[in-house]
Amino acid sequence: MGGAGFIPYGRQDITEDDIDAVVAVLRSDFLTQGPKVPEFETAIAHATGSSHAVAVNSATSALHVACLALGLGPGGLVWTAPNTFVATANVARLCGADVDFVDIRASDYCMDPAALEAKLAAADRKPDILIPVHFAGQSADMKAIGAIAKAHGIRVIEDASHCIGADYNGRPVGACEFSDICVFSFHPVKIITTAEGGAATTQDAGLAARMGLFRSHGVTRDPALMETESAEPWEYDQVALGLNYRMTEMQAALGVTQAARLPEVVAHRQRMAERYHARLADLPLILPWQNPDGASALHLYPILIDTDKTDRTRRAVFDHLRANGIGVNVHYIPVHTQPDYRRLGFARGDFPVSEWYYARAISIPLYYGLDEDKQDRVVAALQAALA
Ligand SMILES: *Cc1c(COP(=O)(O)O)cnc(C)c1O
Repeated sequence: MGGAGFIPYGRQDITEDDIDAVVAVLRSDFLTQGPKVPEFETAIAHATGSSHAVAVNSATSALHVACLALGLGPGGLVWTAPNTFVATANVARLCGADVDFVDIRASDYCMDPAALEAKLAAADRKPDILIPVHFAGQSADMKAIGAIAKAHGIRVIEDASHCIGADYNGRPVGACEFSDICVFSFHPVKIITTAEGGAATTQDAGLAARMGLFRSHGVTRDPALMETESAEPWEYDQVALGLNYRMTEMQAALGVTQAARLPEVVAHRQRMAERYHARLADLPLILPWQNPDGASALHLYPILIDTDKTDRTRRAVFDHLRANGIGVNVHYIPVHTQPDYRRLGFARGDFPVSEWYYARAISIPLYYGLDEDKQDRVVAALQAALA
């Protein structure tokens, strides 16, 4: 892998503006806890139509503080989808809670509202929190999932790690119309980057304040949050048990310049996805489906080998692409099949749609720097692999 001509499945886009912004922070007074993090939070709140954004050092941290802010702890229960990165499920366990899964739909590869309804009807223990995952950049069916959650008194965190810049139901993902909190990732393969980084958006000032506390040791100097009355000027209160999940000023500065390009970056991904769609339509593949309720941010372009139409295996296609310098990947190994989850009692066969999807899926290159020439190389390699 690597070397000239290699086309990765995803990659950051870094401009001179990004570099200048980071260098300027290095020459400034604050490397952490300065003005850039609040500026980045304002940019994210603006981009997502939310009233509050809390920036942290990863989406995993954002999911963790989101769960803590909603009061999750030992004895609690979270349900998420198996078709995600392990972090989504792990945060529940890091809070001392239990985790279980709801299978995905074969159309959008996100949490299936019908499966959720059926599982709730059969459950003797209801979850405290649902974490639907907006797979590949497209929102899950939040109208249905939000309505079910509301009817059962369940809180909702959207894992929108793939999804900044997407729309759903006429609003940006992150506006939390059907959820309490929405979480984004700024890892370099995601839509925009801060190297490592994440953010949680919410319309609830109380939840934002709680997430801010858990991000930084549970410590505050805000008189509204302090318990010590008429505190001395140097005093701070620890009012909860928190962590150090703070984003640095360099990361936030990068995030500010990256966020300014968000619409352009998402538009490019959407344009390239349309090109893939047109060029791959005749191959024995199942291509991504676009829910008419929204517009995907197209973090990933997952194709499924249509095993009813070809006897080429996913492995053969994957190997052919890799051998031709195309950095394909597979998203995701269903979380419940990981050894650390099988130890908890989960088994292969538990969530058949996620496993059906996983057995066929390949993520092909899609990122801001992918141009038409490179994309045509990917298409030609796929045509050869499936010929
Ligand atoms: C990337 C990702 C995460 C974790 O994000 P980090 O910023 O790397 O912690 C969580 N959930 C999903 C769906 C992801 O894709």
